[in-house]
Amino acid sequence: MKSNPSSISQIHEIMELTEKLELHPRYRQDRLTCGIFGDGTYYVNVLREKSIGQRQNLKTATLNSILTACALQKRGINLSSVICKYCEIEEEDNNHAIIQCLTAATVWEWVFRWCGIPQPTDLVKFWSQWGRYPKRRKTLISICYGVAWLIWKARCDLIFKENRITPTKVVDNVKAMVFTWIKHRRSNCSYVWLDWCNNPFSC
Ligand SMILES: [Zn+2]
Repeated sequence: MKSNPSSISQIHEIMELTEKLELHPRYRQDRLTCGIFGDGTYYVNVLREKSIGQRQNLKTATLNSILTACALQKRGINLSSVICKYCEIEEEDNNHAIIQCLTAATVWEWVFRWCGIPQPTDLVKFWSQWGRYPKRRKTLISICYGVAWLIWKARCDLIFKENRITPTKVVDNVKAMVFTWIKHRRSNCSYVWLDWCNNPFSC
């Protein structure tokens, strides 16, 4: 991909590509393979750089592509106010809407507590680099996408339906939605709902 993803379909495409990459450390020369390209072999110094760069770009692009009030105003759309509808204090830019607004921050705090992971200060960087084990990484990335999506959905529900969803409800929705995603996408997934609710990494 020659540029950052600019649409949901491109983001999904990169997610699927990233999930197909595998590290083979026991070979004489470390290599990553990817079954969808030619003979499947890419050497580490090339693909590791590409893979990490794409993950970081993906997270940044995901945040930057959100159509907050500030983003709409920058695109020339005339709005009566760019103040956040949830807290009615700060301007609604990407960072505020998904990470910093009190409701969003509370959701992130409770989700990290549920995961048993200390809450990071730089969420995007953490999100891109956390974990050595692919399965745990995939689970955490799925949870982070679920949190971002449902925080944004809760915001839209307030703006367009005047329905204010509490952080508790958002966290409950994250647990249910991501559990469903993983159960349906991962082959031979043995996750059990009660274990998942207790801690997603105890499954
Ligand atoms: Zn706010």
